[in-house]
Amino acid sequence: MRLNPFDTSKIQVGTTGGRGRPRVGRAGGLGCGTIVIAALGYFVFGLDPMETAATVEGMQQGQQQTQSAPVGGEDEAAICNSNQYAQESCNALYSLNQTWEARFQEAGLGSAFRQPTLRFATERQFNTGCGAGSVGMGPFYCPADETMYIDVGFYDQLARMAGEGGDFARLYVVAHEYAHHVQTITGVSDQIRSAQAQNPRLQNQLQVRMELHADCYAGVWAGRNRNAIEPGDMEEGMNAAAAIGDDTLTGGRVSSENFTHGTSRQRMDALRLGMETADDNQCDAAYLRI
Ligand SMILES: [Zn+2]
Repeated sequence: MRLNPFDTSKIQVGTTGGRGRPRVGRAGGLGCGTIVIAALGYFVFGLDPMETAATVEGMQQGQQQTQSAPVGGEDEAAICNSNQYAQESCNALYSLNQTWEARFQEAGLGSAFRQPTLRFATERQFNTGCGAGSVGMGPFYCPADETMYIDVGFYDQLARMAGEGGDFARLYVVAHEYAHHVQTITGVSDQIRSAQAQNPRLQNQLQVRMELHADCYAGVWAGRNRNAIEPGDMEEGMNAAAAIGDDTLTGGRVSSENFTHGTSRQRMDALRLGMETADDNQCDAAYLRI
C-alpha cells in the first residue's frame, strides 16, 4: 500500500519502556468486565495459547495498575523511524486515524472519536492497562488504556506463516487491532460482552463474530483508501488472513466450538467484504446481527 508518511502531530506513539505520566483508569476502573474484553483482544493473532492463558491469568491478578499516559515525553519520530516495520505501522496508524475520524464525522459521531495509542514492545515483559504483556502474545489491543501493543518481531513470524510478501499483511494486522479500538469507542465491545453474559453458550461464537467484525473493519479501511492499494495487496491480505485463521494456527485439530478468531475462510471472507464494500454498515449487518 502506498501510504503517506506519518505526521507525529496526528498520531500517539510510544514504547512499552516509555515512562509516561501515570494516570488512573477510566471511570469504573478495571473491573472484571474490562478483563473479559481485554481477553478478546489478547487472543487476536495469539500464537501460543498456553502463554496467552498464563498471561490472562496474570492480568486478573494484577488489575490494579496505573496506566501510562500516551507518549510520555518520548521522541515519536525516532520511535517510528527506528526500523522499517515501525515506520509502516506509524504510517498505517496515521492513515487509520484519518480514515476513521472522517467516518465518525460522516456518521455525525465526530465527538465520540478519539485516537488509540500505539506502543511498540521494547521489553519481553511489560505492563499494560490490562495487566502484564509479553512479546510472545503477538499484537493486541487493550481497551482499558486504549492502546495497541505491537512487537515488530511478530512480523517476522507472520512472514514465515504467510510467506514472504509485501507490506499489506502487516498493515492488516495494525488495521485489525485498530478495529478493536473502534469497537470499543462505538460500544460494540460492550454490546458483545452483554450478549455473552446473557448467552454463556454463545460466548465463543460471539467472540469469533467480534474478531471477524474487526477483520471486516480492517478491510473497510483498505477499501476507503483504494487509491493507495497496489497490485497484490488484496492477495497479501488474503494470505495473511488464511495464515492466521484458527484452523491453520492449530493445524486443524481444534473443533469449531473452540475457535476464537474464525477459520481462515471466514477471515478471508470478512476482510474481502470490508475491502470490496468499503462500508462498515455491511460489516455490522454481517457480523453483529444474531
Ligand atoms: Zn482481534
